[in-house]
Amino acid sequence: MLQKNPSKPKAFLFDMDGVLYDSMKHHADTWVEAFRKYNIDFPAKEAYLNEGSTGDATIKKAIREIEGREATQVEIEGIYTEKTRLMNYVPKAEMIPGMQALIRQIRSMDIKIIVVTGSKQPVLLDRLGHDFGVERQNTVSGYDVKHGKPNPEPYRIALQKANCKPSEAVVIENAPLGIESAVNAGIYTIAINTGPLEKATLKKAGADKVFDTTEQLQKFVHNLITTDR
Ligand code: CA
Repeated sequence: MLQKNPSKPKAFLFDMDGVLYDSMKHHADTWVEAFRKYNIDFPAKEAYLNEGSTGDATIKKAIREIEGREATQVEIEGIYTEKTRLMNYVPKAEMIPGMQALIRQIRSMDIKIIVVTGSKQPVLLDRLGHDFGVERQNTVSGYDVKHGKPNPEPYRIALQKANCKPSEAVVIENAPLGIESAVNAGIYTIAINTGPLEKATLKKAGADKVFDTTEQLQKFVHNLITTDR
């Protein structure tokens, strides 16, 4: 479903992990390690394919696909607890280069910025204000939703916060389930491919545009917010 290229968008809705912060490698590594403790060989690529999904859903799907059976409650709780524990030891995630400048540019045009993430990690959520000038009231996090991505709920809540219609917003995402969530909410969706997935995977999820570099993204957004049409 191709969304109409929005003229004069009123809000930009940014995903967090893999868009603002280079944090996905940490998630992938800690997933692999946590599964290994339970003797399950979880491929790192799966972490990128499931990105945006809840921990429970990731564990259930992996065990079904890898072991051909349902996950036990002990595994669901144990693997997620271990994953969360390991996240305390990963190095501080860097910002994705160019994103600070992009947000500054968008904000200079009086366009609202909302960050939409499935994450409940205080480590990164607490940095958004300092790094990107995005205060807590302008975020939708794992604490605000019943259903995570790919359900459209998180992006619908973001539209309410931004007080605008789907046709007045633009989403920046990096992962298939996040793209589906945004497209399901009827919003024009730009993907920036910061991970190891094929560009085609992001296209297939429904992204209206897919870029490989922040420079390409910056150019496109610049035209979008400055061109009168
Ligand atoms: Ca993401």
